[in-house]
Amino acid sequence: MNTAIKIENLKKYCNSLTQYSRYKTREVYIGDIPLGGKNPIRIQSMTTTDTMNTLATVEQTIRMAEAGCEYVRITAPSINEAKNLENIKKELRKRGYNVPLIADIHFTPNAAELSARIVEKVRINPGNYVDKKKFELIEYTDQEYQEELERIREKFVPLVRICKEYGTAMRIGTNHGSLSDRIMSRYGDTPLGMVESALEFLRICEDEGFHNIVLSMKASNPQVMVQAYRLLVNKMESEGMNYPLHLGVTEAGGGEDGRIKSASGIGTLLEDGLGDTIRVSLTEDPEFEAPVAISLANRYKEREKHQPIKPIEENPIDPFNYNKRKTIEISRIGGANVPRVVADYSDRKIHSQKDLTDIGFTYDEDSDKWYLADTAADIIYLGKNLLPFDCPNGLKAIYDFDFWQSLDNLYNSYPIFDLDNYLIANKKSDELNFVTINSDIFSNDSITKIKNDKTAVLIVETENLHGMAEQRRIFFELLNQEIQNPVIIKRDYRNISFDKLQLYSSTDLGALLIDGFGDGVWLKVDNLISEKESEGLYVKSFIRKTETKEQIINRLLFNILQAARQRISKTEYIACPSCGRTLFDLQETTEMIRKRTEHLKGVKIAIMGCIVNGPGEMADADYGYVGSGIDKITLYREKNIVRRNIPTKNAVDELINLIKEDGKWVEP
Ligand code: SF4
Repeated sequence: MNTAIKIENLKKYCNSLTQYSRYKTREVYIGDIPLGGKNPIRIQSMTTTDTMNTLATVEQTIRMAEAGCEYVRITAPSINEAKNLENIKKELRKRGYNVPLIADIHFTPNAAELSARIVEKVRINPGNYVDKKKFELIEYTDQEYQEELERIREKFVPLVRICKEYGTAMRIGTNHGSLSDRIMSRYGDTPLGMVESALEFLRICEDEGFHNIVLSMKASNPQVMVQAYRLLVNKMESEGMNYPLHLGVTEAGGGEDGRIKSASGIGTLLEDGLGDTIRVSLTEDPEFEAPVAISLANRYKEREKHQPIKPIEENPIDPFNYNKRKTIEISRIGGANVPRVVADYSDRKIHSQKDLTDIGFTYDEDSDKWYLADTAADIIYLGKNLLPFDCPNGLKAIYDFDFWQSLDNLYNSYPIFDLDNYLIANKKSDELNFVTINSDIFSNDSITKIKNDKTAVLIVETENLHGMAEQRRIFFELLNQEIQNPVIIKRDYRNISFDKLQLYSSTDLGALLIDGFGDGVWLKVDNLISEKESEGLYVKSFIRKTETKEQIINRLLFNILQAARQRISKTEYIACPSCGRTLFDLQETTEMIRKRTEHLKGVKIAIMGCIVNGPGEMADADYGYVGSGIDKITLYREKNIVRRNIPTKNAVDELINLIKEDGKWVEP
């Protein structure tokens, strides 16, 4: 075996980085609906009703099944809820719904053991099945660690045996935010810790000869989530395992942010053929989740028919750790700068300064000044449409090279070429030139002629159905050839509705950003079709009637950069999707908090429905707003309680006071 192959094995997490195919996993039966193997990617979600309310849970389950959920998960926080799963199941079957049910367990082995006798699958969280989290950092000797594992085995084996006896499947579902103190002490808050957390339980199942298992590695940060799933596959391969994967970004929030975060994480993995079932977690009624998951999954039905992409011998990046591709800085693009946002006005004529309001530039005529929003675009592509005023500072205008060459006033204006024209052009900018490249660079050595040219920013385009992989292949080539010019990732979409544009572009751009690629992002959209044409019963629209295409795309691009944690332009919300444990109206409360804090750029606020799991799953939030009893909220600063059990009616004010005390408040 040569060194390159050995390195490849060390980094392997999917079949191929250039030819799409589903990663083959073992088939697992959940009731009558198998998962993994050659089965389609299954869709699932979780109820938000009180599990003790049989009728409400049954009716919500039916709405979810009708929206496309193939499995429905229901929380069973104690033995009483576990018992009531029987009534729920009976009522569903009586009404003719055979959708397999999954009991969601945290902390309560006795509820798990009872549920496993009733429903088709049990989900356990290895971070809290046996351990109570105390946020303690203990140093374990190898012997103590081994003793801990024995303790887990003792508590966990009874459940495994019941599952085996009853033909019940199990998900070992790790959450980034709720790793046990033991795992945290040894591996830290890392993707490796997440993987080891599941493997400890998985090895016990294997010893017991139980293989009806599904695995998940959820995190609210799509980057962490992607790395953890990749590492899990890599470790499974090395241990000869192939369990199916349940994909999800946890606490993704709702609305556009929730969809964009989910698509960046889930979509990135789907692009590489990983994932056997999807749950999109939104802080919305659960029936709105399935259409998002279905849209994500359907995109891969014909994917293997894509145009060929030149194979690679070795992956030049570490897929389990984030490393930004090193680039030279050209006119504040690349280097240490945040990724730049390009607005495409090539099919919109600009009449006055007002036309730039849609991309964050507001002109005040009286003072003759421009005001920039936090989400102001950095670059505007105009094609052959002349800007009828000086381009404002903070914005760079790009024109097609032949048009640019004919301009008299070149203030803040730069040309865009294709590679061949760039090489033969007799007039270029001394400061900044944009050069489009595509997969032709594999067969043509022209790219080496502009290698590290201190004026050339590359625009990477693709027409391939497997476009993300083709663009990633171009980045690999640039790395291999040590070309450090900054790169703007450009994607074209035609005849697309906004709900699909949002998911597809979050996947296509998000997947590259998560791997450290891209110094800028650009979307070209021809014919953004009305959502009505693609509307399903539970497809939500986020477009206001008055919004222009440019405004919609600008917001989308900033949101994608925020989801990939590449450019923070607003408050970050980590909101749990709610479940039967939730102690307040999560959707309403999240909206209320959002209204008052959405101008706090970079502050991370977690809104969690219960104190049992909430604090553990708030990930890296700066503040936590957590339900701790009926009409009681407990506030956290990072992982520490700062106000305990305050009445709900004062809680948002108290949260704001806390942010003020920390000097992080600014007036809206
Ligand atoms: S944090 Fe939210 S979703 Fe998680 S168990 Fe508590 S209420 Fe349910």
